[in-house]
Amino acid sequence: MCGVIGIYSKSNVATSLFYGMNSLQHRGQEATGMAIDNGEEILRKRAMGLVIDAYTEESLRELAGNIGIGHVRYSTAEGSHDYNIQPIMGFVGGETIAIANDGNLVNYQVLRERLEEEGMMFQTTNDTEVILYLITRYYDGDIVAAIKKTMKVIKGAYSVTALVKGKVVAFRDPNGFRPLVLGRDEDDVIVASENAAIEIIGGQMTRDIGAGEILVIDETGIHSDHFESEDTPKNCIFEYVYFARNDATLDDINAYTFRRRCGEILWEEAPCDVDLVVPVPDSGIPSAIGYAQAAKIPYGEGLVKNRYMGRTFIKPTQKERDMAVKLKLNPLGDVVKGKSIVLLDDSIVRGTTSRNLIHRLREAGAKEVHMRITSPPVKYSCYYGIDTPNRKHLIAANQSIKEIEENIGADSLAFISMDGLARAGKKSIDNYCIACFNGDYPVDPTVI
Ligand code: AMP
Repeated sequence: MCGVIGIYSKSNVATSLFYGMNSLQHRGQEATGMAIDNGEEILRKRAMGLVIDAYTEESLRELAGNIGIGHVRYSTAEGSHDYNIQPIMGFVGGETIAIANDGNLVNYQVLRERLEEEGMMFQTTNDTEVILYLITRYYDGDIVAAIKKTMKVIKGAYSVTALVKGKVVAFRDPNGFRPLVLGRDEDDVIVASENAAIEIIGGQMTRDIGAGEILVIDETGIHSDHFESEDTPKNCIFEYVYFARNDATLDDINAYTFRRRCGEILWEEAPCDVDLVVPVPDSGIPSAIGYAQAAKIPYGEGLVKNRYMGRTFIKPTQKERDMAVKLKLNPLGDVVKGKSIVLLDDSIVRGTTSRNLIHRLREAGAKEVHMRITSPPVKYSCYYGIDTPNRKHLIAANQSIKEIEENIGADSLAFISMDGLARAGKKSIDNYCIACFNGDYPVDPTVI
């Protein structure tokens, strides 16, 4: 999971890209990069770490140019290397191209081996480079035609922004797994993973970029084309459950509203007679508000979050993951002491967070701790860009709900139903990829 942005403007874009990438920081904290077309060449800066630390006023000044793209990279369990920082660059028809992607190709390995056999020398271990090489190979003067040929070959999830002399190009896979939106202000046309990146720089989102859509933005305007395929949209439901910002409205659904409704629906599906509804911040906040209001039970902040910790989820050892949860969230004794509480969180993956929090809330004096989860049990790995661990580490793939309840030490445990989730989104569940819950993968992850 990553964040992408592209801006076509009448003035310098580096500072706007910087702000936009800041607003996408939740989608990736490992590394960041931007590439700028100054009319003569493509300038690029890439660095490990957060956007705020990666660029200085001076470096943004040096990146002078009116067209640019940017990327924030999500940490993965495999570790990080600076050669993998995006945007990556190559050539099409003698022009430099820079490309940044959010997603994951399921046939990356096979395509890479094939390209290597043909003599391509890879500089990264990143599937975006396969996309770049294929576009290069198919390019005969028409970038859209080259992208369409590339889309025929690549399988999986991708939301791409690219920069080719004088143009920002954006395209989204035929299932629209990962989000990609379009917006503008007076001087700029902006494409980004989420609308916050557009709004933060003073623009307004105009629409989603559709599944399978290819956009070219240049001096003549915004040109839309479409890759024909049998695939139907399967937006990742986990974007609404957890990943996107609360203010994200993606494919017609606002994440905050979705989360809040999940809380209301969970109250209908799994009511709980307690003194207090407590969120696991931040993603549990809207659902806890929804649950509390539907239940007419007071809402209370029983956990304090350390805002300076990044995402802790992918730490390599269990000991480190336990420590990370402790560092990130601390019970607020004054609020929970002597109370029966229901704790709202978005998901249980390995069970580390809930086990740890329930134990420590009891230590802080909570009388009863019930757990309500706004996603169904995560039983299958994601191959489309979310870094879920192998199935053997997914607690719900290996234990019944009753066993998980005991394992995490909850007085009771309930997950929202699939139907409840669909109701929260006000769309048929067929519109979403829910493979992490039911193993029904829209694109075969074992494809070769
Ligand atoms: P776990 O502690 O392994 O059960 O993971 C569940 C916790 O991690 C929940 O509090 C979620 O908010 C969070 N979470 C779920 N999916 C992800 C993800 N893909 N990346 C980072 N954090 C996640």
